[in-house]
Amino acid sequence: MALTLDSAPRVGMVSLGCPKALVDSERILTQLRADGYALSADYAGADVVIVNTCGFLDSAKAESLEAIGEAMAENGQVIVTGCMGHEAESIRARFPGVLAVTGPQQYDDVVSAVRAAAPPVKSAYLDLIPDAGLKLTPRHYSYLKISEGCDHRCAFCIIPSLRGDLSSRPPAAILREAEALVRGGSKELLVIAQDTSAYGVDLRHAVSSLGGRELRAHITDLARELGQLGAWVRLHYIYPYPHVDQLIGLMAEGLLLPYLDIPFQHASPSVLRAMRRPANDAKVLERITRWRAQVPDLALRSTFVLGFPGETEADFQYLLDWLEQAQLDRVGAFRYEAVDGAAANALPNPVPEDLKDERWHRFMAAQSAISARRLEAKVGRDLDVLIDAVDEDGGATGRSKYDAPEIDGEVHLRDAGGISVGDIVRVRIEAAEDHDLLGVPV
Ligand code: SF4
Repeated sequence: MALTLDSAPRVGMVSLGCPKALVDSERILTQLRADGYALSADYAGADVVIVNTCGFLDSAKAESLEAIGEAMAENGQVIVTGCMGHEAESIRARFPGVLAVTGPQQYDDVVSAVRAAAPPVKSAYLDLIPDAGLKLTPRHYSYLKISEGCDHRCAFCIIPSLRGDLSSRPPAAILREAEALVRGGSKELLVIAQDTSAYGVDLRHAVSSLGGRELRAHITDLARELGQLGAWVRLHYIYPYPHVDQLIGLMAEGLLLPYLDIPFQHASPSVLRAMRRPANDAKVLERITRWRAQVPDLALRSTFVLGFPGETEADFQYLLDWLEQAQLDRVGAFRYEAVDGAAANALPNPVPEDLKDERWHRFMAAQSAISARRLEAKVGRDLDVLIDAVDEDGGATGRSKYDAPEIDGEVHLRDAGGISVGDIVRVRIEAAEDHDLLGVPV
């Protein structure tokens, strides 16, 4: 018996230029194959043609323009990407009919343009990968990366030299991925980037249209959209720029979890200056107080580096005093270590190892007492808990809105029969341990 498949849209690819461009072409085609598209070896059989251009030399540009012209003449449904994407205006002036022009590595934009020109056909036979993509996390929570790279140059960090400057994904691509994740069973989206709050700065916060609405490439707009998908939305790696106050407003509306992960790294102004930290705001304590007035159960998580070159006893004491006032919920602390290639390696006055160690212990003792008090204050309250694991003895383990997976604490449940992984259960908190809470479903 013959099996009739829905006919998949076909994509043609003309790939010009260097091996980096070839890898870009491969990535685009891999994504399109995973989305159920077929490939076409000729113009006639293609529903849409992608021309991946090279603009390195004048001769390469001429070849690219010739390839675009040929694809327009032979097929007419053409998307231009690659190095000549930087000259979008001149391409559009010469070929007004091209469907889209994007720059190198803008895979999401190319895939979006293909989907718009030739919508994918849903078929169990053609879709090689589930809608939500291949995940390394459990089905019920997912990380959502919204940008790559970083525009800052913190003295202890080499990420910008490894991953380049900030490059934000288009909002529509992020939302498409988030919707697929929620459809695939994710109950919690963990938004990540090197600096999540800087999202869209490289795109100049461009406005795009999404289902008839205007959407800025800006963390506030993106967070509002994500908050309407029906999953918990947790923000990581937020820097305390002024616009973070708007995110607190979204938490007050219930669209985001009352949780902020802000890598403060230190509090002493002179150490922060030496670290070259962004959003180094001396008034951050006042802002935390205002945030908590607006969202009383806001959980704050942070990380700190102790023993950075030049850190004096006075700087360290400043940090301890700050910590006492900030009353953070969860904190990670690291002894400063030199990283090959980091600017901080050239700084004078390194802190001796035994002093770093001593400060680390003093810091952790102070913070442990704060964290314990804040956990203790949750005893007797009823909290929503997302179940991460169930055991054979009727127990279960999960996390409240105040705890991210892997890095924060857990809630251990007794008498949790009939509960499954991924359920969100109302739990009465009965006791607090050093890091975790104990409770029972209500
Ligand atoms: S530590 Fe600084 S430079 Fe490194 S990724 Fe974070 S913000 Fe960027």
